[in-house]
Amino acid sequence: MKSLFGTRPAKIAGITSVILAGALALAAEQKKDTSHEGPQQPWSKWKVHDMDRPMAPVVTPGTASTADAPGKAPSDAIVLFDGKDLSQWQAAGGGEPTFTVQNGEMLSTNLKDPKNNKYLESKEKFGDIQLHVEFATPSPAHGDSQGRGNSGVFLMGKFEIQVLDNYNNATYADGACSALYGQYPPQVNVCRPPGEWQTYDIIFHRPIYKDDKLAEPAYVTVLQNGVLTQDHHRIEGPTGHRIVAKYPDKFPETGPLQLQFHGNPVHYRNIWVRPLEALEHQQATGEVTSSAAPKAK
Ligand code: MG
Repeated sequence: MKSLFGTRPAKIAGITSVILAGALALAAEQKKDTSHEGPQQPWSKWKVHDMDRPMAPVVTPGTASTADAPGKAPSDAIVLFDGKDLSQWQAAGGGEPTFTVQNGEMLSTNLKDPKNNKYLESKEKFGDIQLHVEFATPSPAHGDSQGRGNSGVFLMGKFEIQVLDNYNNATYADGACSALYGQYPPQVNVCRPPGEWQTYDIIFHRPIYKDDKLAEPAYVTVLQNGVLTQDHHRIEGPTGHRIVAKYPDKFPETGPLQLQFHGNPVHYRNIWVRPLEALEHQQATGEVTSSAAPKAK
């Protein structure tokens, strides 16, 4: 007599796996709690509280800097300067950087060859970004007005957020520290004294051109030492000295980050950047592109 079970082990195993797969699928379905789902959002392809909408990529936050030590960048940031070298940088337009690296920071002047000074420029080019920069103006302070602790952060190499020692130092308002140079003063003067580390956290949206015409100007938000100084402010065009800003007929989609040489040895440390356009696309559409994916660390 054949065993009831011995004759069909494969079939029973098959049935078991089908039942198991079904149970798992059911469990997954039951796990997906759609009880919060509401009507279709007219501005997206998802419903309100849609459980099928992709979650945001995971980013490990950085740490804050102290007076003595720079903090750590978030996990998805491109670190442009961590105190070691200028491997991410070149002189503006190309060639060896002229800024000086020493003691875990860089100076905006050339100590080895003082007559050879150029702006510093990132090798990589960026469009929309979140940017973190730390700087300290020279101590003791020398000079006055625009001659005291002058440097600058140039977004896309075109739009200067002024770096200046404005601690008890008056100058023209649209050239003050945190000013969009020659266009808009900062909302407040939140400068620390000379020699103290200060932070810039900048959110920048590049100008948009369509059919070789400006469709949307650039916008910038600046926090200096954690305090808002430029609030999503419109940028009127490339910045410059004694010029009325105006957008040119054509404009690139990306440009380098530049730091200005202006004759004063301004100190820099802890510079990192997060390109935003892939993340903006992902947030709007749910589509993950490689540059939006979090880096494995
Ligand atoms: Mg400047």
